[in-house]
Amino acid sequence: GWWLSGLAMRPIYQSYQWQQQFTANAAHELRSPLASLLATVEAMLRLPPGSQPEVSSMLHSVERQARRLSQLVADLLLLTRLEQESAAGPLRPCCLNDLIADLTEEFLELAYASGVHLESRLPDAEIHVPGQESQLYRLFSNLLANAMQYTPAGGAVLVTLEGRDRGAMVAVRDTGIGIPPAEHERIFQRFYRVDGDRSRRTGGTGLGLAIVRAIVQRHRGQLSLDSDSGKGSVFTVSLPCTQR
Ligand code: ADP
Repeated sequence: GWWLSGLAMRPIYQSYQWQQQFTANAAHELRSPLASLLATVEAMLRLPPGSQPEVSSMLHSVERQARRLSQLVADLLLLTRLEQESAAGPLRPCCLNDLIADLTEEFLELAYASGVHLESRLPDAEIHVPGQESQLYRLFSNLLANAMQYTPAGGAVLVTLEGRDRGAMVAVRDTGIGIPPAEHERIFQRFYRVDGDRSRRTGGTGLGLAIVRAIVQRHRGQLSLDSDSGKGSVFTVSLPCTQR
């Protein structure tokens, strides 16, 4: 009896531990932007009257920090919603050709500014998958944003869409810094970054790929990664054309 109840309790205990770890990470991630926000406000309150130029530059910094916090909270809420299957909205046919064409266009300016060549290759025939458009948009936008983020000037990012037997395959390929195989599992965990400081400086929340994974799961798709340090990365998403 003891042994059996121990066995039954194990997943509950594991999920409890996981929950605790997650709460600790979330609190840590929220604490540093909040601390710097408070420090800026306190410094502003100590300024002598008539320090208009300082006030306006400090207000910009407050705005930046508040936006980052608000993005972090929005991402956490989205992840929580994605995990509550019952709360998920209905899936409707989405045209991946349009979605990827729009997204690529949206990133062109950033690509131009950062000196990265961005290109998409789409088939002539339209490919539709059942999904929630805003979520699919977010999924590929996160992958594309990372590809741009981790590819230095002079590199290239290529997005391809192909029809498969019973689904669609989208690959986001970059010639950037790459990810060592030992990190392939961990980068999908919430808040995990390969090189904590470097990635934090680039402004990411460390939730991007956790959201990608949750959206792929919600659409009954598959996600794979082919990458190594210095060799660029390929994130491939396969989505079924019909929901099983
Ligand atoms: P972040 O907000 O830090 O980008 P993500 O969850 O999107 O968080 O990614 C987790 C980590 O995986 C990143 O911090 C980065 O180290 C690594 N990573 C993700 N995409 C790429 C890529 N295309 N090339 C190299 N490293 C990447």
